[in-house]
Amino acid sequence: MKEIIAPEFDSEVLNGGKVVLDFYSTECPPCEALATKFEDLSHLYGNDIKFMKIYRQGNRELAEKLGVKSSPTLLFYNNGNEAGSRLTGGIKRSDIIRNLDSMLPAESVNEVKSKIKPSVSEFDVIILGAGPGGLTAGLYLCQSKINTVLIDIALPGGHVSTTHEVSNYPGFIEPQAGYMLSHSMSEQTKLCGTIYKVAVDVTSVDLEKKEVVIDEYETVRAKRIIIATGTTPNLTGAPGEKELKGKGISYCATCDAKYYNDKEVLVIGGGNSAVEESEYITRFVKKLTIVHQFDKLTANKQAQDRVLSNPKISILFDNEPRAFIKDGDKIVTEIENVKTKERQKLVSDGVFIFIGMKPNIDLFRNELELDRWGYIKTDEDMRTSIKGVYAVGDVISKKYRQITTAVADGTIAAMAIAKESD
Ligand SMILES: Cc1cc2nc3c(=O)[nH]c(=O)nc-3n(C[C@H](O)[C@H](O)[C@H](O)COP(=O)(O)OP(=O)(O)OC[C@H]3O[C@@H](n4cnc5c(N)ncnc54)[C@H](O)[C@@H]3O)c2cc1C
Repeated sequence: MKEIIAPEFDSEVLNGGKVVLDFYSTECPPCEALATKFEDLSHLYGNDIKFMKIYRQGNRELAEKLGVKSSPTLLFYNNGNEAGSRLTGGIKRSDIIRNLDSMLPAESVNEVKSKIKPSVSEFDVIILGAGPGGLTAGLYLCQSKINTVLIDIALPGGHVSTTHEVSNYPGFIEPQAGYMLSHSMSEQTKLCGTIYKVAVDVTSVDLEKKEVVIDEYETVRAKRIIIATGTTPNLTGAPGEKELKGKGISYCATCDAKYYNDKEVLVIGGGNSAVEESEYITRFVKKLTIVHQFDKLTANKQAQDRVLSNPKISILFDNEPRAFIKDGDKIVTEIENVKTKERQKLVSDGVFIFIGMKPNIDLFRNELELDRWGYIKTDEDMRTSIKGVYAVGDVISKKYRQITTAVADGTIAAMAIAKESD
């Protein structure tokens, strides 16, 4: 591994054969998350590919010239030409390996793979998921001197890190940018001494054995596991949705309706959550249009009656969104009538999508007792149906899913574990 500066770029990188270059910064949690993976891979691939680092803040001009806009960014070069795809953000080991392998002949790849040695590490508690629930459990366990590892497929923070503003988390007078709140939560837990393995691929989870395999080769074992993997909102799949998430498209009325005082919004969906959340949103907005794919609402009768008689709400049945486009402060939603195939464009200040959430339990769905919607059942100490396995936050069966409720669950699970470990 070699650290370079901008004047060495041509000789070391462009004329250096096969090179991977890490533009890093200080005080950059994703850079810290990358550092050990990068170091480890340099030992494996070091005979074939040169591993180099460059400090982005100190070599700004070069970074700008190369179009590097965030830290860390990994660039791959093969004989002076950029190869593979640039990687940035929460960079996974598997993504780096894919790029490195693409620069090597098959026999070299096989030789490198034969050098990978499986590893095993042992902890008291594994927490799967570093959103507010997992981070809080990690903090309490760490402060109780319980040896804990936090494993996440992404960077720490969960949904909060991508939430525009949070104004209902106690202790802050002004609304907090979601990424700052999640950063503070994560740093507090990390500073205590909790071990982080983040932006990893979780290959398998064995809840009975309390064993998690990450990145295919690293086995992490513990006496107990806390599942804090949260939920994923179902997406409409229409173009523009992912790009506008948190920038005009929301999946949470409690969180975002207050930002639409006296404005006009669309709600996509027609089940219980769409209808109930629509009612809530009308406390703020002047006009709300529900776009629903069927010819009648599928929510329960009482909720339907309330919505149908609400003067602020109108409903477009038999319609599905086909595209979301940002136009200044407005969102243009193109919808299509599923019967007539006629399309029209609706202009609004914001769009709420309520077409269901799904708990993130794919890796262990068959092992646990779930409620009828697929959420994990727990007792009041957050114990699941498997001894030594706890679950907290949005992934569990409960009525209200907020940061405060996830934080409370994480506290309870950690305190129950600390008590058992006395
Ligand atoms: C757009 C939006 C805005 C919101 N705004 C607010 C708000 O303003 N106020 C409020 O109180 N609540 C808000 N919420 C709700 C709040 O974010 C959630 O209730 C809270 O984040 C739940 O915390 P959690 O720890 O249970 O799960 P999450 O925050 O969902 O975190 C789960 C973590 O688990 C990880 N993970 C998933 N699968 C795996 C796996 N197999 N292995 C390892 N890790 C995994 C994920 O990467 C993630 O980091 C909002 C939700 C959304 C979607």
